[in-house]
Amino acid sequence: MVEALREELADLTASVRAFLEWHAATGADGLPGHPSALHEALGASSPDGGPPAPRRAERGFAGLDAPSPPASRGGSGAAFAPPEQRSAAAAVSPPHPEQRPAAAAVSPPHPEQRSAEAQAARSPVQAQRGPEPSRPAVSAASSPRAEPAARANAPQPVTPEERVTRLALLAEEVRTCQKCPLHEGRTHTVFSRGSPLSEIVFVGEGPGAEEDLQGEPFVGPAGQLLDKMIAAMGYQRDGVYICNIVKCRPPKNRKPEPAEMATCSPYLASQLALIKPKVIVALGATAVQGLIGTTEGITKLRGTWKLYKGSIPIMPTFHPAYLLRQPSAKREVWSDLKEVMRHLGKSAPDRG
Ligand code: SF4
Repeated sequence: MVEALREELADLTASVRAFLEWHAATGADGLPGHPSALHEALGASSPDGGPPAPRRAERGFAGLDAPSPPASRGGSGAAFAPPEQRSAAAAVSPPHPEQRPAAAAVSPPHPEQRSAEAQAARSPVQAQRGPEPSRPAVSAASSPRAEPAARANAPQPVTPEERVTRLALLAEEVRTCQKCPLHEGRTHTVFSRGSPLSEIVFVGEGPGAEEDLQGEPFVGPAGQLLDKMIAAMGYQRDGVYICNIVKCRPPKNRKPEPAEMATCSPYLASQLALIKPKVIVALGATAVQGLIGTTEGITKLRGTWKLYKGSIPIMPTFHPAYLLRQPSAKREVWSDLKEVMRHLGKSAPDRG
């Protein structure tokens, strides 16, 4: 009896030792699928070359008769293979489920997967609202570090003093300009007259003979009529800003060529950009054409608001020189100027 118990205890000890050795050798958790695998894994063999099945297993010990571990856990082959074979098997086998989170933490998820996960994590109310709009990528210009550079590049407000200074510099540049053939016949360039701080800018076609001599716009008979129109609107003669499409007199008072207007237009654009008037009054067809590039006649254009560069309202009307030839057209011009005053919130006497 004692001898039998001793033998049983010895068998049990051998089995436990074999299990511990298998466990240490394979690194596997759980139990091997079949008792014989335990010994195969350890390279142990029975005296006759076969696996020495423990007696406990022969007796149907439930623990060692448990089903083989699922393939996904790598237990069907890899766990029982020699170390070098296990490495190769592990390389081609899917990772253990418990190992996956660690793997996921190392490798970032695919962008589409991230998006799907983010949408799934939203509340039902959020989900009912539909997919979340994708956030615009933060560009270098919008990053906090780029802000000072962006501010430096943004157009800065121009003080009245700066405006006057810049316009004087521009006038000096025009004075020596030879960019188009009109410079050949001029006596003076004609840049502007009046206040750079005006809310209205009157734009004419180009200098006439008198303007060319004096170097100032609208100083001849047409200019005197314009002065009366300006006074009727409630402004001082020099309280408004007056300039032309071209700054040099075309020969024989002809209309400036499109190429001449195009060459000279950056000067006018700079003037208007610095002054930023609330309204531009375009005097005659050439002025409207030079401002907005239209080919329509002034009879059709006058009295209808246009836009300069999409922001400054333009009121086209007849040129004062035309009124000198057609005094009856003064009624329409006065109607157009009253519309300008209405736009600026000013009242005007009814001269109809
Ligand atoms: S018309 Fe204008 S572009 Fe032509 S020469 Fe005179 S300033 Fe220069």
